[in-house]
Amino acid sequence: MKTTTLGHTGLQVTPVGFGVLTVGNTQLNLTVEEGAAILRYGLEKGINFLDTAQYYETYPYIREALKGTDFHPIICSKCLDASYEAMEYAIEEALREMDLEQIDIFLLHEVRQDPDWDQRAGAWQCLLDAKKTGRVKAIGVSTHHVDVAEKMAGITEVDVLFPLINFRSLGIRKGDGPGTKEEMAASIKANADAGKGVFAMKAFGGGNLTGSYLEALDYVTGLEGVTSTMIGFGKKEEIDRIVEYMEGTIDRGYIPDITTKKIRIDQGDCEGCGACLKRCPNQAIFRNDKGLAEVNHEICLTCGYCAPVCPVRAIIMF
Ligand code: SF4
Ligand code: SF4
Repeated sequence: MKTTTLGHTGLQVTPVGFGVLTVGNTQLNLTVEEGAAILRYGLEKGINFLDTAQYYETYPYIREALKGTDFHPIICSKCLDASYEAMEYAIEEALREMDLEQIDIFLLHEVRQDPDWDQRAGAWQCLLDAKKTGRVKAIGVSTHHVDVAEKMAGITEVDVLFPLINFRSLGIRKGDGPGTKEEMAASIKANADAGKGVFAMKAFGGGNLTGSYLEALDYVTGLEGVTSTMIGFGKKEEIDRIVEYMEGTIDRGYIPDITTKKIRIDQGDCEGCGACLKRCPNQAIFRNDKGLAEVNHEICLTCGYCAPVCPVRAIIMF
C-alpha cells in the first residue's frame, strides 16, 4: 500500500489505518494473542498506521503484534485527561507498555466544544513539552465537534487533527446539537490547507453504515484534506476487503454482512447512576420511566466508550 505524508509532520502513512479499539475489552474483547494476530495480519497486508488510546487499554495487543517483527508502524495514542501530570503519566505509560522510545502521535482525546480546549491547557502544555524533548513526534486533537475542528486550523502548534466524519453525518456535533458532514469537511480542508495532517474516524458511523460499504468509504477517502482513514477491524476478511478497496480491485457490487453488533443495558443490573449518560459522546443513552439507562440504537455509534464507566458492568456489546 502506498504511503502519503501526513501534513507537515513528515510521517508517511497508508491511506487506511487500523483502529485498535475494536479488539479490546470494550468491544470484541479478544485475547491478547487473538487481537495481536489480527493486528499483525493488517501489518502484513501493508497497513502501517495504528490508532489506540489510553482509555482503550489496547497497548498489550500492539506490543504483542510487534514482538519479534520488523514492523515499525506509525502509532497514534491519546488521553482524555485535562492535567499536565495526567498527560505526562499517559505518555510514559504508552511508551512503557508498547516498548517504545518515542511515539509518533499523541493527542488530546475527544476534545468537546469550548471551554473543553481551554480546560485542557495543562495536558496540551505537556504535549508541547513532550514534543520538545522528543518523546512525541506530532501532537493534536481528536474530536467529534465541528467547532473544535475549525478552531484547530488556526492553532500553529497543532500538527494533526483526527475528526469524526461520514456520509450520513452520524455523530458529528456542533455546539450543543448535531453538525453536518459539509461543516466538518470544510474544517478538514481548512486544517489541511494550514498544513495539519488529517486522518478520519467513524467512516462507517460505528457500524451503522457498514451496509453501505463502498459509499461510506468513497465519501471519506475522497474528501479533500483526508490523508488516512482509521477503520476498526475484527476479522482478517475485513482487512482483505479494505486492501481490495484501496487497490481498486474490489467488486463494486460488494455488500458486507451487516454486523449485528449492538450495545445493550441489562435492566436487571443497571442502578441508574447516570455515569454512562455523561460519558456517551453522542447522547445515545437516555433514562427510561424507571430511571434506568437505555440505548437509542438509532444514534448509537457502538463506540463502546460507555461500557467501562458502568460501575456494575450493566452495559454489554453483543
Ligand atoms: S451508547 Fe455507548 S456505544 Fe453508543 S454511542 Fe454512546 S458511548 Fe458509544
Ligand atoms: S453507568 Fe451502568 S449503572 Fe450507571 S446508569 Fe449507566 S448502565 Fe446504569
